[in-house]
Amino acid sequence: MDFWHDGLSRPLASPKLRVLSLGAGVQSTTLALMAARGDIAAPDCAIFADTGDEPQAVYEHLAWLCSGVLPFPVHIAQCDRSLRAALMAGDEDGARIPWHVGRGGMGGRNCTRNWKIRPIRRKIRELLGVGLRGYVAPGAVESWVGISLDEITRIKPSGCLFIHNRHPLIEARMTRQACYRWLEERQYRIPPKSRCKYCPFQGNEGWRSLWENPDEWAETVELDGWLREPAQIARFHGQVYLHHSRVPLAEANIALADTGPDLFGHECEGMCGV
Ligand code: SF4
Repeated sequence: MDFWHDGLSRPLASPKLRVLSLGAGVQSTTLALMAARGDIAAPDCAIFADTGDEPQAVYEHLAWLCSGVLPFPVHIAQCDRSLRAALMAGDEDGARIPWHVGRGGMGGRNCTRNWKIRPIRRKIRELLGVGLRGYVAPGAVESWVGISLDEITRIKPSGCLFIHNRHPLIEARMTRQACYRWLEERQYRIPPKSRCKYCPFQGNEGWRSLWENPDEWAETVELDGWLREPAQIARFHGQVYLHHSRVPLAEANIALADTGPDLFGHECEGMCGV
């Protein structure tokens, strides 16, 4: 299976731990269910990194997966407060999300690193019984990431010596559409797109699904307005927006079809939107 010149998807011979990074979206759900049905060897466990701000539909889908559907444990990795709470408390360095900058482009983010990657690594260390500064042998952990063949540019090494990333959907040559087909043929419900409710990477399809839940829409419109209050304009050095059209979310034409590339393509860690 070692067909990547850099060995990015090489299975490890005997890792201490095989972990599925479960975003609870279409791709990682497909991977989890393939393992549950024996189509591929099962991991030791799955880890869901919870920012605290996923749509209710994602939490309901996760609860279904955890209700005995998967034959391996699902661990939840989280910080002591939600990403939104940290952002609104003024932790803009630790909780910066990839907003659209009024004068063009997107702002840098560190939400994925601090609310997804680090909590997952902490949970992995906990599962290995190793403290935060304890030594873990290189390649001790095989981490499955649900990136599909159509998103192959998102794959990258874990950036951590003891975690080796694997991409079973790419090894199986499965695209996102192939995941949809696999789920439909087995009469599974299509999972909602996993992402923070307010994630600026989402297109109009994501915003429309959020709009269908009035409470979630209202709280996200409120966050969008907060981003452009005078204090935030000063802190963020200008106006920033959640919607890619760079207008207030409440005024954005979310009925328009998505024509551009999926902005989650910018999310190179494969932790969000899968
Ligand atoms: S879904 Fe978006 S806002 Fe949430 S952690 Fe990922 S990139 Fe950041």
